[in-house]
Amino acid sequence: AQTVTEYDTIAAISTPPGEGAISIVRLSGETAVQTANKLFKGKDLTKVPTNTINYGHIIDPDSGEVVDEVMASVMRAPRTYTCEDIVEINCHGGIVGTNRVLQLVLGAGARMAEPGEFTKRAFLNGRIDLTEAESVMDLIRAKTDRAMQVAVDQLDGDLRKLITNLRQEILEVLAQVEVNIDYPEYDTDEMTTKMLREKAELVLSRVDELLQTANQGQVLREGLATAIVGRPNVGKSSLLNHMLQEDKAIVTDVPGTTRDVLEEYVNVRGVPLKLVDTAGIRKTEDKVEKIGVERSRKAITQADLVLLVLDASQPLAAEDRELLDLTKDKKRIVVLNKQDLPQQLDMAALANLVPEEQIIRTSMLDVSGVDALDKQIKNLFFGGIENSQSTVMVTNARQSGLLRQAKASLKSVLSGIDAGMPIDLVQIDMTAAWDKLGEITGDAAPDELITQLFSQFCLGK
Ligand code: GDP
Ligand code: ZN
Repeated sequence: AQTVTEYDTIAAISTPPGEGAISIVRLSGETAVQTANKLFKGKDLTKVPTNTINYGHIIDPDSGEVVDEVMASVMRAPRTYTCEDIVEINCHGGIVGTNRVLQLVLGAGARMAEPGEFTKRAFLNGRIDLTEAESVMDLIRAKTDRAMQVAVDQLDGDLRKLITNLRQEILEVLAQVEVNIDYPEYDTDEMTTKMLREKAELVLSRVDELLQTANQGQVLREGLATAIVGRPNVGKSSLLNHMLQEDKAIVTDVPGTTRDVLEEYVNVRGVPLKLVDTAGIRKTEDKVEKIGVERSRKAITQADLVLLVLDASQPLAAEDRELLDLTKDKKRIVVLNKQDLPQQLDMAALANLVPEEQIIRTSMLDVSGVDALDKQIKNLFFGGIENSQSTVMVTNARQSGLLRQAKASLKSVLSGIDAGMPIDLVQIDMTAAWDKLGEITGDAAPDELITQLFSQFCLGK
């Protein structure tokens, strides 16, 4: 219910909020250059060549007052980010000055851009497909180098190429089926059926391979929810502090979004861990800890991975056993801490409760064993795909949801053939698979979905 005309001139601050040295007001649309020119004192921007950077000042047209000293980049359609005329005004006057420039631009006839609208235009103008648009979003949010690489590959169009090829395969067989239906006198039913089956099996196996990457892709994007649990004094805070050391902690400031809860992320060998309920571990310094099993229970429920810390210099306590039991069906690593002290933990008793491969021995005092811990986390996560750096990965729930629907249609094709269903019914399922794959790239995406998808972007992208 918004009055948005596509292709009018939109504007937004494109740099993250804060006190950066330079911030950029970006304009895109048919009248981007004229609009900026109304406020710009320097060269006539409507006459400068494309892809030039022009020194000048932004002037308030009402008062004649100089608002900021700027560099204005002019990029003309169609070879721009949005395929439209773009002006980027590089402001130097801090966030207040930048906001004033934006206000003036809006006063001069531009409309405030919606989140993601610049990228949406790139899509609507045919420059990128949906998987590439989504990867722009992933790039903004990427939490580790590895996640960044996956996003960059998608921006390159790897996933698009793969999906486009699969659709082409389906299209070929559908065309062939069409021909055979049109010439029933050739009695080619058997051939047609065979061809349909072969294609359905081929595409299905590719879709399955893609779906296998979806879990990892999702985690790369969202972070693996990780809880550190254990009874008081076993070394949880020490472990947490170690994990939060510089170069491992990930800054999670996502421009244009607000977060109710401060989330902490750490990067363990390319795996982003999203730490669950660290407040409970933290605020108890110098006091007797009262995290309690109840609170741990909640953290454990939320977690994909549990790091259960035990004090190896103490006998196994009732609370340890309770936590071991609570986490037994979870992806878990049992950290036997305080290896530097005389060992009191009954290993035989522990062996009955925990498989050896889940156990890592550490000392937070002399920082030993933490490498092994990092390695274990990485192995748990990447498992078999570790070495396939170039694998196309499905990184979000929308994509994997559509793949699952395509898979279901392909299975119906196969079961339909097995049940001896008429070819034209089987054909319907094959077409459905083609449609679902098309929604992934946006070749067959409903408008509503596109709007919803782009609204998740940050302002100014
Ligand atoms: P938490 O209560 O589980 O968070 O445990 P802390 O990390 O606060 O550690 C409790 C106490 O044990 C502190 O005095 C730490 O210095 C000490 N501690 C932690 N890890 C080790 C370790 O590996 N060896 C030894 N000797 N002391 C440790
Ligand atoms: Zn503590």
